[in-house]
Amino acid sequence: MAKVSEIYGSMVFNEHTMQERLPSATYKSLIKTMKEGKPLEIEVANVVAHAMKEWAIEKGATHFTHWFQPLTGITSEKHDSFLDPCSDGRAIMSFSGKELIQGEPDASSFPSGGLRATFEARGYTAWDPTSYAFIKDEVLCIPTAFCSYTGEALDKKTPLLRSMSAVEEQANRVLALFGEPRQRIVPTLGAEQEYFLVSEKAYAKRQDLIMTGRTLFGYAPCKGQELDEHYFGAIRPTVNEFMKELDNELWALGVPARTKHNEVAPAQHELAPIFTNVNRGVDENLLTMEKMRLLASHHGLVCLQHEKPFEGINGSGKHNNWSLSAGKKNLFDPGESPMDNLRFLVFLAGVIQAVDDYQELLRMSVASAGNDHRLGADEAPPAIISIFLGDELDAIVDALIDDHEYTNAEKVAMDLGVAVLPNFLKDNTDRNRTSPFAFTGNKFEFRMPGSGVNLSDCNMILNTAMAKSLKDFADAMEGKAGEEFEAAAIDYIRDVLTAHQRIIFNGNGYSEEWTREAERRGLANHPTTADALPCFVEPKSIALFEEFGVLTETEVRSRYEVKLEKYNKLLNIEARTMKRMVRRAYLPAINSYAAEVAGHINAIRSACAGADTDQQEELLRRLLLGIKEIDTQLRALGKLHHETLEIESEQEKANTYAHEVIPVMDRLRAAVDGLEVLVDRDHWPVPTYNDILFYV
Ligand code: ADP
Ligand code: MG
Repeated sequence: MAKVSEIYGSMVFNEHTMQERLPSATYKSLIKTMKEGKPLEIEVANVVAHAMKEWAIEKGATHFTHWFQPLTGITSEKHDSFLDPCSDGRAIMSFSGKELIQGEPDASSFPSGGLRATFEARGYTAWDPTSYAFIKDEVLCIPTAFCSYTGEALDKKTPLLRSMSAVEEQANRVLALFGEPRQRIVPTLGAEQEYFLVSEKAYAKRQDLIMTGRTLFGYAPCKGQELDEHYFGAIRPTVNEFMKELDNELWALGVPARTKHNEVAPAQHELAPIFTNVNRGVDENLLTMEKMRLLASHHGLVCLQHEKPFEGINGSGKHNNWSLSAGKKNLFDPGESPMDNLRFLVFLAGVIQAVDDYQELLRMSVASAGNDHRLGADEAPPAIISIFLGDELDAIVDALIDDHEYTNAEKVAMDLGVAVLPNFLKDNTDRNRTSPFAFTGNKFEFRMPGSGVNLSDCNMILNTAMAKSLKDFADAMEGKAGEEFEAAAIDYIRDVLTAHQRIIFNGNGYSEEWTREAERRGLANHPTTADALPCFVEPKSIALFEEFGVLTETEVRSRYEVKLEKYNKLLNIEARTMKRMVRRAYLPAINSYAAEVAGHINAIRSACAGADTDQQEELLRRLLLGIKEIDTQLRALGKLHHETLEIESEQEKANTYAHEVIPVMDRLRAAVDGLEVLVDRDHWPVPTYNDILFYV
């Protein structure tokens, strides 16, 4: 087997390959484009395209594609071959700078939330030179942004890139106050991806898994996750083979997959990469998800990336580890020297302000039909946003707010009122798993995103909200220097912390008291997607995005529409799948079993006059009662579902799904699940949780 160091990045047109393959002048101007955002000349693009093509063909590629992230959240690609026929009947392989820089996919079938009228359906893809091109399945993939004829963003990448520039710009203004030169500042992302693996055979028999990604029915398995035996447990041989293949493929694509382990729920696993800049990090996460889905089939498995495939056991999330990096410095590293600490406190206060002011947007960014089953279900953070800082930072924040002395871990008293700040230690000790937004030593871990989500949205919001906090600080401080600056900065931090203290919570996020306490503090609590989405189009949100040039009002509105429509469509599919499964699978099976039981009763009676058939009759009665309840709920769902489909406003439709249709779906499920444990195993039409979760 090839060495990992040889495999790693072998399918990526990375800086090393660029340097090897490009004339030095071309290489230099490409690097300028990548690192400083300088526009790329067409002459340079032609040279790059030629080198890329030669490299790709050597690696076996025959096609190229502009790889982009439409508003569906998943990636899209359309393959074009390099083939260029000559007049003499032969063909050469060609790829021009123009083809590299820009593409024109027919965009009419991608969701645009009304942004792009069908008659001007053309969308443009534009090369994003800051994310490397790579070869996947013999196709040269060029990461691109996707926008409309009139320049509006139609994808997830464009606003993310814009938000990165915004936070870089404002962070540089802040660093300038600390006497630092202008530098490259990038948000970083390490995305821990959770997923389930189930056997293809079981999957193929579950219409609900196939159609909706989750089980719409299913009684709890005899054994759940209570023994804690799966978490970090020995990995099944089939799963191990899958993980090995996945690692190798990801490494070849330059995705630094690092940690893999079994998760809490049976059949649940996790993969964590080494962090990188947020743009590349999102691309890598999408590639990882795609590879997981594809490679699972090589091992007779199916990879479930739904947030809640099974009721009653943990769902899957995607921890979004986020930080800001300036060269080799991590701006959330508390640091060693007092001045580093002041800088750290400015950035810390910035995050606290950002998360408090835009808590609803953050919640909105992870809202999805699937994640609604997870947030607040005692396994994932609640739907209420709060920040966990840990004991030490918490004490520092308190000391700053109250303007009293802070005694650090080494019991050295410091007066925070003057410019001497403590040397505090990284707080790594207490890992509060119930917090949606936790400081973990030198980064923040946003734990609300669901496993299926594209992380562009939440990072775009984090970056933009952070840009806003930093801008406020820079606006207030510019013109001050030396001790005057330090004193003013401390006062400023104190004011920010005092104003936003309500968002800090170190206790148990799963408790009911917290829900009440959060309400008292005025924190938002949007339990469902339907409740969470409207804040996207509120004036405060639009003002934020427009101030930093991240999204225009039209772009915001179109995204809101797309999210609403997606939610409604998914719920429509779930309701339909439920009805069909009940009518065509469950009811026939239960009726046939009931008839068999009735037959047994008659047979016993005729064989043995006066025999005691109480048990059989009781079973039959329970089956018949169950059938009646299923029928009642099925009719209720049918009626409500039809009425909901008639609702014109997408928001109202979403509200009805969330608050009226789902409760009926839950009752229908309960009615069917109740019979699962009564009906003979051979009659039951689908594999049960026991069968699916405990395969070999
Ligand atoms: P956990 O206990 O949650 O598994 P880890 O320490 O293993 O936490 O880190 C989880 C993720 O955080 C990894 O993907 C790691 O690369 C990422 N990470 C570490 N430092 C940073 C950082 N500065 N910025 C973004 N992500 C980071
Ligand atoms: Mg984590």
